[in-house]
Amino acid sequence: MAKISILGVPHDDNSSFMKGAAEAPAHIRWELHSDAYSMWSETGIDLGAVGRLVDHGDIEFGAGDPWDLIEREVGHAMEPGDPLICLGGDHAISYPILRAVRRRHPSLTILHIDAHPDIYHAYQGNPRSHTSPFARIMEERLADRLIQVGLRTVNDHHRDQFKRFGVEVIEASHFSETLRLDITTPVYISMDLDGLDPAFAPGVSHREPGGLSTRQVINLIQTISQPIVVADIVEYNPRCDISNLTAIVAAKLFKEIAGVMVKTASH
Ligand code: MN
Ligand code: MN
Repeated sequence: MAKISILGVPHDDNSSFMKGAAEAPAHIRWELHSDAYSMWSETGIDLGAVGRLVDHGDIEFGAGDPWDLIEREVGHAMEPGDPLICLGGDHAISYPILRAVRRRHPSLTILHIDAHPDIYHAYQGNPRSHTSPFARIMEERLADRLIQVGLRTVNDHHRDQFKRFGVEVIEASHFSETLRLDITTPVYISMDLDGLDPAFAPGVSHREPGGLSTRQVINLIQTISQPIVVADIVEYNPRCDISNLTAIVAAKLFKEIAGVMVKTASH
């Protein structure tokens, strides 16, 4: 039976505006395992089957460099060779995660769903800011392609960065239900919950109206036919949530990403 690994990355030191994302993994796990919801994905995978989910727990951040620790722990979690879903944490964590992922995947496309491009060269003097991971990722060529979907905060600096790194961008204003991504390599999904409209996902530090619906994001993920090898679900902020709505959305996205991971891994 195909397994899915889980790793919590409770880290939000590089959030520019508001802390809280470090508290996310426990809340998402709670909704994921709640008896209130089905454990079956829409693609027909029973994620509640005994042994299906292998939870590596949360990274415990101590004295060392958190980036080295994330890279090392993600490497460990990938060792069995099963697809991995990391629960953030703010979006800064995607950079050290991808350093570990790239070692195993010489061919890789990132599908990044977000309101923001997160490609500032640096922000408030911090090159590790959660507004900058994709600048670091592309500088180090940790992916062959970066496709960003759902953006609605693009400025001139971002457009310069897109050109510099060859980023493929589908802004929210150009999103279409018929969008089909032409991906020919293994896939990394980086799912920032603020890519969704705040009406669907209010529990984020930066609510940006005019976003995608939960349905549109799930449908887009379900069009992927290449193996999804690793995903992160980031920027859930329980301190901003309403009735755990956004934790439930994060758990749903977890199940649907996992459901496509199992489906695409088996052929
Ligand atoms: Mn982001
Ligand atoms: Mn964002």
